[in-house]
Amino acid sequence: MRCPLCTDDLEHCHEVSIAHADGTTECGGDGPCALGHLLHDWRVPCVDLDPPCPCAGDDAVPLPLAA
Ligand SMILES: [Zn+2]
Ligand SMILES: [Zn+2]
Ligand SMILES: [Zn+2]
Repeated sequence: MRCPLCTDDLEHCHEVSIAHADGTTECGGDGPCALGHLLHDWRVPCVDLDPPCPCAGDDAVPLPLAA
């Protein structure tokens, strides 16, 4: 598969970037990914995951601090 961004040798990622309720994002691909959320072909809020991410509670309940 060839995309225009690959052809132009631009930085981008073909994986899904997941946006969490606290504003952090996470690449769903294998291995580390240093590219920003907007450089991903696919972007989903974590509430749309199945099952939904626990950070996406109705009131964005803060995660309990790990001991
Ligand atoms: Zn590409
Ligand atoms: Zn989340
Ligand atoms: Zn990525």
